[in-house]
Amino acid sequence: MKCPQCSQEMIAGQTHIGGGTASFLFSGSLSLANLTFKAPGWSNHILQETSDVWPAHYCDQCGTLTLETTRVGLSTLEK
Ligand SMILES: [Zn+2]
Repeated sequence: MKCPQCSQEMIAGQTHIGGGTASFLFSGSLSLANLTFKAPGWSNHILQETSDVWPAHYCDQCGTLTLETTRVGLSTLEK
């Protein structure tokens, strides 16, 4: 997959939000970190929670990260 910003070939992998089980064991509380998406005129929408693992591509040249979340149809929530 080519980077949409700089056309470099991207590296395939996975993303997850840190914390989860390890932070629960060591801190005694669950991390509530979420990755949210906000657009002009839109509310915040959660795209990734701590427990989610999504396929992703990372560009080692410019740092662009793409996620393949299963969350679709966010625009319908804005009506
Ligand atoms: Zn790039």
